[in-house]
Amino acid sequence: MAVDGDGTGGDGDTQPPVKFSAEEETEMPRMWLSQFPNSEHVSDNYEDLDLEYSSIVLRSLEKYLPMEMLKAERILKYFFMSDILEKYITYGDLTMAKNRKEYRQNIKSNYHPRFRELYDFDPKMYLLYSFRNAISENTEESFRRIISEPFPGVFVFQMFQPDFIQRLLKEVDNFRIWAFMKNLKIRKPTYKTIHGVVLDDFGLSIMLNKLMQDFIFPLCKVFFPDVCGEMFDSHHGFVVEYGENRNVAELGYQIDDSEITLNVCLGKQFEGGELCFRGTRCKKHAREDAHPEEIFDYRQIPGQAILYRGCHRNGARATTSGSRVNMFLWCKSSFFGEMETYQKDFSDMCGQCAHETKEKESRILASKTKEMIRIESGAKRSTDKPWRVYVRRSKK
Ligand SMILES: [Zn+2]
Repeated sequence: MAVDGDGTGGDGDTQPPVKFSAEEETEMPRMWLSQFPNSEHVSDNYEDLDLEYSSIVLRSLEKYLPMEMLKAERILKYFFMSDILEKYITYGDLTMAKNRKEYRQNIKSNYHPRFRELYDFDPKMYLLYSFRNAISENTEESFRRIISEPFPGVFVFQMFQPDFIQRLLKEVDNFRIWAFMKNLKIRKPTYKTIHGVVLDDFGLSIMLNKLMQDFIFPLCKVFFPDVCGEMFDSHHGFVVEYGENRNVAELGYQIDDSEITLNVCLGKQFEGGELCFRGTRCKKHAREDAHPEEIFDYRQIPGQAILYRGCHRNGARATTSGSRVNMFLWCKSSFFGEMETYQKDFSDMCGQCAHETKEKESRILASKTKEMIRIESGAKRSTDKPWRVYVRRSKK
């Protein structure tokens, strides 16, 4: 769970914990979080308190509190939630969140966007009519009209206006140049990427959040109903450039830190860079080889969006010439992330788990069949040669 949410307004109140006198400390009853959020509940605001967790995280978590706690005083709810958060958030996480907050604050105060209109959400300006129309109809049939599924669990479609893509590319360049001039080291989107920029860091998180909620979530609800629940509650949006003088080599395969990944090829002109899928995997089997039926390579086309599960192991072949830029939107659900820690059987989502379960069942079946044949042949011998039984009995 992220300390500072996705930065869509939380601005992480990462400050020293508030001090309470001993008599104020109350022993909390042992209770569990609800399995589903209480969407009717209006969470308290914690921004005025000097707490170590951001108000946005607390407000989100409050919806999962058990009924007994929902009407409790705000500070009691905070104690209860901080006990839970402590198990997941380390001092390192808190420091990282604090640094990120300062980094974003610096950009927010000093960076002047080139295209301000990108930062507000105007679907008519950003999105193709056919895409908007399919989403507003909101049926599987309308989605299938504009979406193809070249491989199970991989959905391909066009969604952005070309003009939006061009402006986004120019805005990213503008930010890079500004950071260079200011001698600001750009935060890497993931530990693997070298030439990447986090879009949320320079103010695009409101736009990305609305894109995720209003346009990507309806698709996921139909195509991936088991992993998106009521709504995604955070995202990580970034752009990575590959090609000559950039990330040339293949970076291997990975599972994304997301429930669902939207991957859009923004351009430009390039050769190579095929997107490779190598089976869905749980964390335990993230490095297991792919089975032949799990291998799928897809040639990327500028402007095309691809939607797949974060656990669908993916990678890209080297971009051998030209320049390729992709935008990624990792859509996350803390509820499903949390559920995964308690789940023991992943055979419904992990190809390797399913493979092992099938092998185990085959072994059990083979052993049972062998046993039945043995019993049957034993019984047959007894029937065919009753004198053997007679001789054995008469010897006793
Ligand atoms: Zn597995």
